[in-house]
Amino acid sequence: MRNIRIGLGFDVHSFEQSGSSLVLGGINIDYKCSLKGHSDADVITHAIAEALLGSIGLGGLGEHFPDTDPRWKNVESLKILSLTVEKLRELNWNTINVDCSVVLEEPHLATFRQQMQDRLSFIIGAPINIKAKRPEGLGSLGRSEGIACWAIALVGME
Ligand SMILES: [Zn+2]
Repeated sequence: MRNIRIGLGFDVHSFEQSGSSLVLGGINIDYKCSLKGHSDADVITHAIAEALLGSIGLGGLGEHFPDTDPRWKNVESLKILSLTVEKLRELNWNTINVDCSVVLEEPHLATFRQQMQDRLSFIIGAPINIKAKRPEGLGSLGRSEGIACWAIALVGME
């Protein structure tokens, strides 16, 4: 029987007052502010990378790409995701699929969803599903103070 594992990832970033674009799901979106973080703060890509690391017991993103290490300062999150995929492949694990729930009031993701899925799927070599959920005005996410994302990843070894 094929050896399979499952991993869960979570990430959250707050908005900064400045900035005029957002990196989300590996694409640039025109928006009134950007997310705060040591890298491009791509909350979707970070959650996916964390789910992949978690699936085979490699810990979390912070252990592999610590924000205290200058090597990872301002590094593109897509680069972090592809390095994560390499770590799994070195151990003979391949991604089967990934599903994400992004929690945000705005911007509206429907028009960008397919583009994000295509870009991230290309990197991990497996289907990715991204869906957005509005927090219905509740709490800090409901006040549009930031964006959170959960991701779940299934990986397998032949
Ligand atoms: Zn992050």
